Amino acid sequence: RLLSTQPELPHCNVGTIGHIDHGKTTLTAAITRVLEAQGLAKFISFDNIDRAPEERARGITINACHVEYNSEKHHYAHTDCPGHIDYIKNMITGTSQMDGAIVVVDGTEGTMPQTREHLLLSKQIGVKTIIVFINKADKADEEMLELVELEIRDLLNEFGFDGDNAPVICGSALSALNGTNPEIGEQSIMRLVEAMDKNLVPPQRDIDAPFCMPIETAVSVAGRGTVAVGTVRQGKLKKNSAIQLIGHGRTLNTTASDLQVFRKSQSEVQAGDNVGVLLRGFKKEQIERGMFIAAPGSLTEHNAFNAQIYVQRRDEGGRTKPITSNYIQVMFGDTWNMPCLVKLPDGVQMIMPGDTGQANILLRKPLVIQAGQRFIIREDKATTITGIVTETLP
Ligand code: GDP
Ligand code: MG
Repeated sequence: RLLSTQPELPHCNVGTIGHIDHGKTTLTAAITRVLEAQGLAKFISFDNIDRAPEERARGITINACHVEYNSEKHHYAHTDCPGHIDYIKNMITGTSQMDGAIVVVDGTEGTMPQTREHLLLSKQIGVKTIIVFINKADKADEEMLELVELEIRDLLNEFGFDGDNAPVICGSALSALNGTNPEIGEQSIMRLVEAMDKNLVPPQRDIDAPFCMPIETAVSVAGRGTVAVGTVRQGKLKKNSAIQLIGHGRTLNTTASDLQVFRKSQSEVQAGDNVGVLLRGFKKEQIERGMFIAAPGSLTEHNAFNAQIYVQRRDEGGRTKPITSNYIQVMFGDTWNMPCLVKLPDGVQMIMPGDTGQANILLRKPLVIQAGQRFIIREDKATTITGIVTETLP
């Protein structure tokens, strides 16, 4: 896609995660610099990544930069966020389709609270593969780097990833970006990309299922209408076909007037593509994050469902006190958030942190909800509940 001469490569979504100042943005820029030298990417400078425009959706502002590059094997869309809170918001609201994450750990400092929090959230949102980049090898001594490797492997195991076998690459993003010290600079980026190619599995996306795309954001285009942006979850869509916009208690029928992938018009898009769908005649305000674009009649909305929930302990980023019935907080799905009411079954007084249980959940407004869908409920800065929908209710 990026280079028109390149054959179509399998697509993977990745992101850099980790503690502030450990070098996520430097690494992102360095990857594009090293791959540009091989004709596989366009270099994006540190400043251009860090100054990503903010996306505003349903009252949440998320800063995220999407960078694309090719390896020999895959086409990658890579997300980097400037701040910790952007990661939290992005991970629980937007990047559930991250196929893998690169956790960046400063080799002079080791794992830090945000490293833990990002790994925990990655697990919760179903990120399959974690690749470790131990950074700042130009400043850290050998012994320290070994300790940091042990520490991060332990942490991965603690959160249910395969820490013993996770690929760990040691290097210096800054050296790679500046073209100095090739051993730990450029070559570490090559080893990283190699590990990504080897370990990240492009998801088997369901191309034959009815078209469905959650809307992440909407942008108005003067004189044309509104472009709804998202990643196609399943199916295919041809330009000018009939579609339905569904969610927030609304169902609107229209057509896809144009389809764009990385700002280029396409006649057809399919599962896995990051797409802008032009909705002619629609105002931006009519299109909300959390709505879906779907093949007409293929999706339904619900504002009540049953779920299996897990109440997180304080040390997992949750709370110390149990949840009781009629708990009201904000639920986060993959692209939306919505106030909800959590009811416990008759006879169940409470669910303690560290315990699971059943719950009946009501949303303030109906949304597209499907059995098997995962969600998170947050209270202030804590993720108090993680859960999965077991049954939708009419
Ligand atoms: P982020 O907050 O994780 O995105 O971290 P940044 O990429 O903004 O990097 C934070 C600071 O660490 C910046 O001053 C970088 O120049 C510096 N830095 C990043 N990578 C390296 C490295 O490999 N070696 C050294 N010495 N400094 C680095
Ligand atoms: Mg950064």
